[in-house]
Amino acid sequence: MEHPKHTQHGPGEKKDSGDGGSVLNGHFDGLVKRPAGAGTVRAAAPQPPGAESGSHRAAASSVMESWREERTRSLEDNEMSLPSIAAAYTTILRGLGEDPQRQGLLKTPWRAATAMQFFTKGYQEKIIDVLNDAIFDEDHDEMVIVKDIDMFSMCEHHLVPIFGRVHIGYLPNKRVLGLSKLARIVEIYSRRLQVQERLTKQIAVAITEALQPTGVGVVIEATHMCMVMRGVQKMNSKTVTSTMLGVFREDPKTRDEFLRLIRS
Ligand SMILES: [Zn+2]
Repeated sequence: MEHPKHTQHGPGEKKDSGDGGSVLNGHFDGLVKRPAGAGTVRAAAPQPPGAESGSHRAAASSVMESWREERTRSLEDNEMSLPSIAAAYTTILRGLGEDPQRQGLLKTPWRAATAMQFFTKGYQEKIIDVLNDAIFDEDHDEMVIVKDIDMFSMCEHHLVPIFGRVHIGYLPNKRVLGLSKLARIVEIYSRRLQVQERLTKQIAVAITEALQPTGVGVVIEATHMCMVMRGVQKMNSKTVTSTMLGVFREDPKTRDEFLRLIRS
């Protein structure tokens, strides 16, 4: 990871007077102030204990929602809603000053609608289906780590991509999950409209609920297109979020081992 900076909510930025108040760049984030310091998740490096606490205020109520009560979007739903999503894209094209009838754009609304359904296909899947037949009783009590899982998601504030890498570690307590399933959990939650903090936490909570492990750590390093497309100085900014549960949260040694292993 190269020199991540937190460009989004850094104190001292002139977002209130200039950036934040402006609708020109489509960013309302600047208006939502987070107190600097307190439990900051957007940080230059995976944060020590408590890093994830208190930073989910905005999403806290929905964050803890468990996969046990998930509702999914069906393929029939997709088919039914495709025309109206495409019609909405036609409206958007016109609103942007384009001519939806010109040749290059004729099929664009349908393509865009289909693509958007694909980008959000995580709504069509349930965590429980991934877990079926993939949880094994095992007397393994060493840390399990899967790092550099590719992640593509969509920022729920701007509907543009967030992409990056996810690192997962857990300390089993008699139960383990098929390794490929960790990547599947990432896929299901990331292919939805997201904020990075919630995505991080949802992955950690899903693993906790599925395996009841001794501890779980999830770190995500990601690039938000809504940030990097707005200015050269933000080109290389990365956002790092982490959620530590159980011993990963309580025991600095375990947490440090995890953080060291995902960097090596
Ligand atoms: Zn955004």
